[in-house]
Amino acid sequence: MAYQHLLNSTPVDLPVGKVVCVGRNYAEHARELNNPVPDEPLLFIKPSTAIQSMEVPIILPKDRGGLHYEAEVSVLIGKPLTCVDEAEAMKAITGVGVALDLTLRDLQSQLKEKGLPWEKAKAFDGSCCLSSFTSSVGVDLTQLPIKLWINDELRQDGNTDQMLRTIASLVAYISHWFTLLPGDVVLTGTPAGVGQLQSGDQLTLQLSDLLKESTQVSK
Ligand code: ZN
Repeated sequence: MAYQHLLNSTPVDLPVGKVVCVGRNYAEHARELNNPVPDEPLLFIKPSTAIQSMEVPIILPKDRGGLHYEAEVSVLIGKPLTCVDEAEAMKAITGVGVALDLTLRDLQSQLKEKGLPWEKAKAFDGSCCLSSFTSSVGVDLTQLPIKLWINDELRQDGNTDQMLRTIASLVAYISHWFTLLPGDVVLTGTPAGVGQLQSGDQLTLQLSDLLKESTQVSK
């Protein structure tokens, strides 16, 4: 089943584009991986081929080291954005959801050590699990609790009020480097509590009282 963006549980007439991701946007998460807190947002891209729905089980890649989960708030872009300010960025955000930025952490560490790009660790097929989106009209994006349970144990418990850069500021910043197109998605960084996935894990993500979705790691 090909992935399609859903907005308020309905397929939305937007193409499935790229995903622009932000690293180290929560200070506590940067510290847990012994990374410095960056002065400017750290950006990377996952191609549309990385996207899959939460309804599709996560496959643990074979012989590629540990696969880590990172629960993140996602936003769906509805209008083209090039070099815009925060107010314009806000007007282009159509939906908000949750996502898993799946990361081959051992491979990423090896690549980082060698000063090489991370793509193989972050942008592989199936590395971006997206929930459906809920309309962001009237939603305060600066105060959204996000939670991830694995096998009923709470592992990540963050809030967008802990972000180093707000979602509006991030989207505006991104638009100065990469044009965002309708159907693109932005992943806004993960709070502390990341860890490795195991075969058969059941994952549940919740965004405030707006949405709750589950997925699983295949056995
Ligand atoms: Zn991430």
